[in-house]
Amino acid sequence: MTHIFNFSAGPAVLPKAVLTQARDELMDWHGSGMSVMEMSHRGKEFMQIAGEAEADLRELMGIPSNYKVLFLQGGAHSQFSMIPLNLLRGRTSADYLETGIWSQKAIAEAMRYCDVNVAASSKDQNYTYAPTQSSWALNPEAAYVHYTSNETIGGVEIFWTPETGDVPLVADMSSHILSRPIDISRYGLIYAGAQKNIGPAGLTIVIIREDLIGAAQGGTPTMFDYKTHADHDSMYNTPPTYAIYIAGLVFKWLKQMGGLAAMEKINILKAGLLYDYLDASGFYHSPIAPENRSRMNVPFTLKDSAQDSLFLKQAQAHGLLQLKGHKLVGGMRASIYNAMPVEGVNALVQFMQEFERTHG
Ligand SMILES: *Cc1c(COP(=O)(O)O)cnc(C)c1O
Repeated sequence: MTHIFNFSAGPAVLPKAVLTQARDELMDWHGSGMSVMEMSHRGKEFMQIAGEAEADLRELMGIPSNYKVLFLQGGAHSQFSMIPLNLLRGRTSADYLETGIWSQKAIAEAMRYCDVNVAASSKDQNYTYAPTQSSWALNPEAAYVHYTSNETIGGVEIFWTPETGDVPLVADMSSHILSRPIDISRYGLIYAGAQKNIGPAGLTIVIIREDLIGAAQGGTPTMFDYKTHADHDSMYNTPPTYAIYIAGLVFKWLKQMGGLAAMEKINILKAGLLYDYLDASGFYHSPIAPENRSRMNVPFTLKDSAQDSLFLKQAQAHGLLQLKGHKLVGGMRASIYNAMPVEGVNALVQFMQEFERTHG
């Protein structure tokens, strides 16, 4: 098999050790005679798999006991509507921070349910930074404050936790969850699609403070009410069983790696290798404000965009895959999630140096 490094933004690279274990267990999970894909979600084998996945996630993230962990489907996109449907609780407006394409999408969906106050926006500089909290115009009557802590497409990450007093803080952590420790107790709700930094597509994780459950507005579909899932341990309907199993293997791998503080150190190292090179080079450029440079998604441009397709072609020939930037922003993007080894980032930097030397 050829050796490659996959820089896709999502679905994305998974730890080799996890894929190897999944392969070994594919036909016969722990002597059950069955693949995890073939098991009843209510049987004791799968209940054990799901139970361990939740316990390991709670341990890794330090999730307090007054928070529920929900294993849902529908992607982060469904959360864009589940959040207003459940969290407005009779109020008529919510605060949103606008820092890029994913927060824009969350805002557009919330506008179907309430008045959206855009508390601050980085539109003035084409979403290349995050407004500091002193510039936010928060509404004390807001039902909640929503922000996107890592804009996957733009590559803008917010490393501090906003202060919102008694107003619940809600975060879309789809593309950086598990990349560093988070103080969960500062949040009302955290959500993340699995396919960036957790596991396979099809699973969406919601971590919600218990007092925010049970006040969905009238007419909310049963499946869009957090209470439905909280009351049934995420087994009201058939959950995405295989995706939960793989996510569980990833949680065990993260524990083996030393947990989230250890992962943060590695992620700082990997991102530093790439950004230091981008800054030193006159050939490549990072458009993002230094204090908001994402450790997970690193967009960059070439001096002459006419060379983009050649760059991508040669990168591919070197086994460096899926480096094309999102069509809305162009250029390149290297996603370097937890499962991307340091060697992958080194290989990318080496290739970029060589390309600069021969085409600069
Ligand atoms: C990928 C992504 C989404 C959308 O996730 P889906 O699973 O496709 O719904 C939303 N927010 C962020 C920050 C993302 O990275």
